[in-house]
Amino acid sequence: MARNFLSQLTGSFAMPAAENPTVAMVEAAYRHHGLDWRYINCKVSPDRLGDAVIGARAMGWAGFNCSLPHKVAVIEHLDGLGESASIIGAVNTVVRRDDQLIGENTDGKGFVEAIGEMTDPGGKTALVFGAGGAARAICVELALVGVAHIAIANRDEARGGELARLVANETPAQTSYLAWRSTLAVPADTDFVINATSVGLFPDVDARLDVEVDSLQPHMLVVDCIPNPPMTRLLRDARERSCAILDGLGMLVNQGAIAIRHWTGIEADRAIMRRAVEDVLLDGRKSSC
Ligand code: NDP
Repeated sequence: MARNFLSQLTGSFAMPAAENPTVAMVEAAYRHHGLDWRYINCKVSPDRLGDAVIGARAMGWAGFNCSLPHKVAVIEHLDGLGESASIIGAVNTVVRRDDQLIGENTDGKGFVEAIGEMTDPGGKTALVFGAGGAARAICVELALVGVAHIAIANRDEARGGELARLVANETPAQTSYLAWRSTLAVPADTDFVINATSVGLFPDVDARLDVEVDSLQPHMLVVDCIPNPPMTRLLRDARERSCAILDGLGMLVNQGAIAIRHWTGIEADRAIMRRAVEDVLLDGRKSSC
């Protein structure tokens, strides 16, 4: 019988790239499901992004992730966008469909799936810290699954206000912008408190989000997007205040599993993926995401 030595290719374009552990997580899923697929971690500079996309087209890649700094810049090299990627204005997953490259955004969807495993987000209120790429994806997807009100707190007021307007204009959710010039008290009627800033990311592991810890209440679900280390200072504070907590690995694993579904059509085993990423993070203690 003729053997087939031609693997299906996927991967990631980013810069820096060396410390991104996604390859370990995705290839663990490919191996577990017996797929002859590869995930190639590529360091691509902004001025070569167009060439990299042409290369992926020429080699018939099934798709690829885009990480910093390419999530917005890649759009001009693609043939179309999925619904939430076009509202968010950023792409983290590119999928080849009928020889067209379509941009999707799985960051927010992965986040919403992680929350959905704990509670029904419909009708709830959220306070999101941050207004960068992760916050944009999270706010749009929370709004699309029925979160009623989203308050956004961001250091840079223009950026925060712009995100609040975007979500109010493009989705059914109501939004507000909270000025965050000093320690912020979480309003008592908040259901979800979400850190979508980079505060707490390795190596700054003891950095504290400027929030009044005593305003965290036991009915709140406190979520941190930081995947490394998963147990951030915010989550430790929240646990001490008897809040439910959710770490950034849930979001990381889910967004990866949704990307794998886009590329291969299979529903990847998330426990296998989580174990793989935990292994590399615990092993290295120096990866970023
Ligand atoms: P961006 O650079 O687009 O945005 C960074 C955000 O953090 C901005 O809102 C910025 O505020 C804020 N910020 C940075 N430093 C501080 C500070 N000292 N105090 C208050 N706010 C601060 O990054 P992303 O949105 O792409 O990523 C944010 C985090 O989310 C990263 O740490 C990343 O690791 C994580 N992430 C996790 C994912 C997962 O799967 N778990 C997926 C994607 C991201 P300002 O606008 O005022 O500068």
